[in-house]
Amino acid sequence: MKRRLRSLDGSYSCEADVFEPDRYRQLLSLGAEVKMAVQGGGISLTAASFGGGARVINMRRFNRLLGFDPERGTVEAEAGITLGRLSAFLVKRGFTVPVQPAHPQITLGGCIAANVHGKNPYRDGLFGGLVERLRLFHPAHGELMLSREQNGDLFDLTCGGYGLTGMIVSARIRIAPLGGNCCEVTHIRVADLADTFARLDELKESHDLLYSWNDLARFDRHMGRGYVVAGTFVDREPAPAGPRRLPRLDPHRGSVARLSLINPVTLPALTALYYRASRGAGPRILDLTRALFPAVERTFYFSAYGRAGFIEHQILVPDSRRLDYLGEFEALVRRHRQPIGLASLKLLQGRQRLLHFDGSGVSFCLHLPNRPGPRALLEELDALNSQYGVITNLIKDSRLSAVTARHQYPEFDRFVGRLGAFDPGRLFVSALSERMAI
Ligand SMILES: Cc1cc2nc3c(=O)[nH]c(=O)nc-3n(C[C@H](O)[C@H](O)[C@H](O)COP(=O)(O)OP(=O)(O)OC[C@H]3O[C@@H](n4cnc5c(N)ncnc54)[C@H](O)[C@@H]3O)c2cc1C
Repeated sequence: MKRRLRSLDGSYSCEADVFEPDRYRQLLSLGAEVKMAVQGGGISLTAASFGGGARVINMRRFNRLLGFDPERGTVEAEAGITLGRLSAFLVKRGFTVPVQPAHPQITLGGCIAANVHGKNPYRDGLFGGLVERLRLFHPAHGELMLSREQNGDLFDLTCGGYGLTGMIVSARIRIAPLGGNCCEVTHIRVADLADTFARLDELKESHDLLYSWNDLARFDRHMGRGYVVAGTFVDREPAPAGPRRLPRLDPHRGSVARLSLINPVTLPALTALYYRASRGAGPRILDLTRALFPAVERTFYFSAYGRAGFIEHQILVPDSRRLDYLGEFEALVRRHRQPIGLASLKLLQGRQRLLHFDGSGVSFCLHLPNRPGPRALLEELDALNSQYGVITNLIKDSRLSAVTARHQYPEFDRFVGRLGAFDPGRLFVSALSERMAI
């Protein structure tokens, strides 16, 4: 079936032939005649699951639960299952997936392929760390079982391989006991970005949720003010109810807002209002859905940037250089005076390898209107990032060039070489792999 597909940030769209297999027979009989792209929820910021002239294989009908072992703390499911469904099953049984990105429509396959992070990556690591084994299908290789012990190289390439090694059919992952039936969340005020670093450092070991919101739409002495969101799972009777209705995030329909309601003129007032409304005094009790998936009721936000959309620029600044970097970053933002729509910081602790958004440092996630002014700021930021050993998250930023990514990721060519050795015909592609010249 022909469909128009769009990236969530609005920067890329194309017509594609979309196939949704729902039987193993249909999936396993796919041949290697045409280039393919694998799609899960299809809600990534950038066009990572379509484009490049590929036929899109959407995995959403492969969404069955295959096994649950509370003693060992594992769950096995088909890759098209959404985090929302998986979470609903696990929460009833007192468990959770310890690493979950912020939206319930994201699928298990999408989490593995982009090796995503959750609400406190410093403590919980990345999604790939939870995966015990997975089943991969590639028309030229057939079905393969992958784990650290069996086909370890390919396992390594597939977790964080952006769907380029083939279709993840199912996976078994580690789960953790849930610490409560709701979440106690405190917003701790911070004066600026340096203060945010200090607060995140203090709290990084002790909280289930830990990230910040900062106001980077003003350029006075209050630039970067905001709050740290610190949350812990607790038990309360009765547990607070979750949202009655979960609005669907459907980037492929395009922006519902004809005008860009979020733009450089409105942003300073919008972020000031948001700051006032959210800095709240005491702790609040949040239901599990809103705590685990904070973006669940913010569907409108993504289209409020209008037709041109927005750019998400997420970077990881190494710990050893973060204060020097911060000085240069703030000077650059002040010089360009381009209001930033969303700025959020998290801490990570890990080792950067292949194309994984991993390492030990502080992650900045920034949303900017997709306009010439903000793009000029980001181009200069790319150059600064490359000087400081900063990496940019490939699944988020649709404007990042192959040259910049190659410069930032020391193992970029290693990834390309290993992928080419496994699949010389390079059957799986996407707009992302094309832009990255992979
Ligand atoms: C509102 C929102 C909040 C987010 N929050 C976070 C966050 O907190 N942390 C974070 O790290 N990320 C976050 N993300 C990014 C998101 O986690 C990733 O983009 C994720 O990959 C999207 O999953 P999806 O199921 O929509 O996959 P898609 O967009 O369909 O695909 C993403 C990638 O995974 C591959 N893929 C999908 N399914 C399979 C499969 N079965 N087999 C092989 N490859 C497959 C695709 O080819 C593609 O490369 C967020 C995204 C949104 C929209």
